[in-house]
Amino acid sequence: MTRRIPVAAPIFRGNETAYVMDCLQSTWVSSNGSYIDRFEAGFAQFSAARHAISCVNGTAALHLALLALGVCPGDEVLVPTLTFVATANAVRYCNAEPVFVDSRTDTWNIDHDRLEDAITPRTRGIIAVHLYGHPADMDAIQAVARRHGLFVIEDAAEAHGATYKGRRVGSIGDAATFSFYGNKVLTAGEGGMVTTSDDALAERVRRLKGQGLDPARRYWFPIIGYNYRMTNVAAAIGLAQLEQADWHLGRRAEVAAWYAEMLKGLGVATWQCEQPWASHIRWMFTVLINADERSRDGVMAQLLDEGIETRPAFVPLHQLPPYQSAERGGPFPVAEDIGSRGISLPTWAGLTREDVSWICDRLVHALQG
Ligand SMILES: *Cc1c(COP(=O)(O)O)cnc(C)c1O
Repeated sequence: MTRRIPVAAPIFRGNETAYVMDCLQSTWVSSNGSYIDRFEAGFAQFSAARHAISCVNGTAALHLALLALGVCPGDEVLVPTLTFVATANAVRYCNAEPVFVDSRTDTWNIDHDRLEDAITPRTRGIIAVHLYGHPADMDAIQAVARRHGLFVIEDAAEAHGATYKGRRVGSIGDAATFSFYGNKVLTAGEGGMVTTSDDALAERVRRLKGQGLDPARRYWFPIIGYNYRMTNVAAAIGLAQLEQADWHLGRRAEVAAWYAEMLKGLGVATWQCEQPWASHIRWMFTVLINADERSRDGVMAQLLDEGIETRPAFVPLHQLPPYQSAERGGPFPVAEDIGSRGISLPTWAGLTREDVSWICDRLVHALQG
C-alpha cells in the first residue's frame, strides 16, 4: 500500500474541539460572541498591530482594506503578477485596475526596482504579497510608495508570524490582510483578518464589513457596506490555532530545514531562500526544477502516482484570461520562470523526517527518470 501525503493539511492539537463545542452549547454560533473578540485581540498582539478586524476570508480582507484606503473606480493598484488570483480580484471588485509587476529572483516577491516604471497619475497604492511565507522587502517598497504618495497593503495571507527586519508582518504597511483558509499556516476553516495601527482605517473596515452600519444608531446605514463578518465558530477554531502558533511555526521550520538539508548538493532543484533580513515561515516549500513546464507537470504526475501530492507554482496572473489584456507592465521573465518550473512540495506541520526523506527520494527519482 502506498502512503498518501497531502500537499497541505491542518492540525488540530489544541482547544479547537472544546471551543467549537462551547459555541454550540452556548448557542453563540453567528457573528457575535466572545471568540470573535478574543481572536481579534490575540491576533492584533500576534501581528504587533493596534487593530485586527476579522472577516469571512482573506479575499474579503483585501477588498475591505482597499475600500477603506479609498480605492475608487478607475484607480490603479500595483500587484505582483506572481501571487494567488485573489490579490488582483479584490482590486477588480473595487472597479480598479491591477497593474502587474514582475518578481525578484532573490525573494520571489514584487520587484521594487520595477515599481516606478508602472506608476501613473492614476496609481493609488501597492499590494506587497509575502509569497509562500517569505516577506517582501518592505523598506524598499515603502520608499517608492512615500515618494509617490501611495498606500501599501501587505497581503500576508501566506505569512502569519513571519518577520521583516525583526518586525512582524501585518504591522508594517498601512494595512495588512491574512487568510485562515484550511491550507494556510493557521486556519479557521474559512476566515480573514485586516490588521492596521491606523484607528480611522480600522473603524472604516469595521463599518464596511457589517453592512455599513453606524455603530451609534440602530438600522442607520450611511454607506453601502457588505456582510463580510466571521462567525464565532470560525473564530473559536482560529483562536485555538493561534494559541498553538509557536508549535505550528516551529514544525514548519523543521520540515523546511529537512528539505534544504536533503536536497542540498544534489543539483536537482533550487528554492526560495530565506534572506538574512527575514524569517520565512514556510507556508509552502517551493522548489524550481531544471525542466520546462511540460516536464514539470510530468514530474508532479509521477509523484502523485506514488502518493505524493504537490502543487505547481502560481500561474502568473497576466497569463490568466481575465487579466491577459492588461496593457502595461511586463515583461515578466522572473515570474514566468518560477510559474513554469516551480513545484510546491508537501509542507505542513504533521510531516515527519521520514516523510520528507521519502518525498526527496521520489523527487530525485522522478527528475532522473
Ligand atoms: C489564500 C490567499 C488569499 C485569499 O484568501 P482566502 O481566505 O482564500 O480568500 C489571498 N492572497 C494570497 C496571497 C493567498 O495565498
